[in-house]
Amino acid sequence: MDGLVIKNTGSWYVVYTDDKREIPAKIKGNFRIKGIRTTNPVAVGDRVCVVVNDDGTGFITSIYPRKNYIIRRASNLSKESHILASNIDRAYLVVTIDHPVTSTTFIDRFLASAEAYNVPVTIVFNKTDLLQDSDGRELLDAVDYLYSSIGYDTIIACAKDGTGIEDMTRGMAGGINLLAGNSGVGKSTIINDLIPGVSVRTAEISQQHDTGQHTTTFSEAYPLPVGGWVIDTPGVKGFGTIDFKRNEVAHYFPEIFRVSSGCRYGNCTHTHEPGCAVLQALEDNIIARSRYTSYLSVLEDSDSDKYRKPF
Ligand code: GDP
Ligand code: ZN
Repeated sequence: MDGLVIKNTGSWYVVYTDDKREIPAKIKGNFRIKGIRTTNPVAVGDRVCVVVNDDGTGFITSIYPRKNYIIRRASNLSKESHILASNIDRAYLVVTIDHPVTSTTFIDRFLASAEAYNVPVTIVFNKTDLLQDSDGRELLDAVDYLYSSIGYDTIIACAKDGTGIEDMTRGMAGGINLLAGNSGVGKSTIINDLIPGVSVRTAEISQQHDTGQHTTTFSEAYPLPVGGWVIDTPGVKGFGTIDFKRNEVAHYFPEIFRVSSGCRYGNCTHTHEPGCAVLQALEDNIIARSRYTSYLSVLEDSDSDKYRKPF
């Protein structure tokens, strides 16, 4: 029987089978991704084959190939990664201009990771009701314009009164959608708007690994009334930029990449080289300073041991 993994509690998974049963299941066999050590070989979003026992529990016996997945380092010290979700049709990154402030570096790191993993992103600006004064509105407009002009979809939302929820519902229908963002930006509130009556549980389990103490958080997929799923990724702060090679970083900043075809040198890092089209575009205000700063920070990480792919 085939199905979709909708929950991961650490040792158990819940598979939603194609005949619409929820089967608590364990893994039978070893399905590791080549070259990557993961804490969870099976992830929410995986299409799997499950053998159902007489008592209603099951065994996951194989996984269908993933079209994409998003991972995060299990901890700073760990060599293992944690797959947050797979087969994602679209990620919704919930951000707030205020209460709390979402930094552009956080947004840009997420976007770069999503580019690297081939996950399309919609940026949801939530809590826009709190931007009463004109300064707040202007900032929202500017940030919205910045990301729209790069090519990202954006939604202006207020989960408190339901603004933007219709747009999200339309975009999510029938697909597997990832909801991401710092804690406190309104993700649970949005899920409650999308799925009236749902109870959002966030399971956090502390685990002691040989590499040190860290917290593993688990994702869960909730069924949407319009069909499809929304995956809540509790506690996601940053997404690993651990896969980035120095000469690839620019690929994941679309507007920087577009301009870079004009650089004099093919191996231009866009930091100091003569004839760099990116530095020129920065000077001409065609590329935003905030984006360039984020590019530099990811570039720096790609160089340091801390973030270099440890496998
Ligand atoms: P999460 O940590 O991302 O799941 O955030 P929550 O959904 O728990 O929301 C955090 C706080 O922000 C709660 O007190 C919500 O009531 C509040 N909140 C969520 N959306 C909005 C909004 O659009 N406007 C305002 N003013 N508050 C909101
Ligand atoms: Zn350049």
